[in-house]
Amino acid sequence: FTEIPDVKWGDVGGLEEVKRALKESIEWPLEYPGLFEHMKTRPPKGILLYGPPGTGKTLLAKAVASESEVNFISVKGPALLSKWVGESEKGIREVFRKARQASPCIVFFDEIDSIAPHRGVSTDSHATERVISQFLTEMDGLEELKGVMVLAATNRRDIIDPALLRAGRFDLQFELPVPDEKARLEIFKVHTRGKPLAEDVDLSALAATTEGMVGSDIEALCRTAS
Ligand code: ATP
Repeated sequence: FTEIPDVKWGDVGGLEEVKRALKESIEWPLEYPGLFEHMKTRPPKGILLYGPPGTGKTLLAKAVASESEVNFISVKGPALLSKWVGESEKGIREVFRKARQASPCIVFFDEIDSIAPHRGVSTDSHATERVISQFLTEMDGLEELKGVMVLAATNRRDIIDPALLRAGRFDLQFELPVPDEKARLEIFKVHTRGKPLAEDVDLSALAATTEGMVGSDIEALCRTAS
């Protein structure tokens, strides 16, 4: 449930822009709350990472947590869902309660689309509605909860309930694209680091010929080759 991940910024290849934005919006408020006070502004409450599978959403969340040295609560969306009436909402309340206790803290909801799909999409829409309202209540209550930040990831942003996406909840949203050639080279470097590469291994050539591959594909390629 809680973990201290051991992922550094250097373990994430490419995605420079997103990394910079995450540092500013997560590390700064936790490290320099006084500055935000001084500027009479508030840090974002929630940040959503979206993009195709294997592009590094979970990896980035772990890097943020480990680099900012705050507590990290990681929740897999589907694990919160329960078939028992009221249990899913209770789960969400519990997560936020723990986060408040552990402040400064990052709560990471992986696969958020499973707990907050567009109301009406799901067949058991009443359960979904209750879960979403509970989630909204908790997020709206974050005002007083200085030092708790919600990070979420999904590869189905299109099915997330719009109420969750409006400003004031997930204030910042970043798309993690399928990596381009430059980013693929960086990812190759991450996954061959420390490995005894033969002289004729040309990472740039590999990056050039792997169009369409995402980070997890490249990782698998390097592992298989090893
Ligand atoms: P999903 O949507 O399926 O949960 P995800 O976007 O969360 O996917 P991750 O779990 O972060 O994907 O990535 C899977 C693995 O792929 C990582 O553990 C890592 O080894 C590798 N990987 C993905 N993106 C990158 C990247 N930008 N740099 C280095 N490795 C990466």
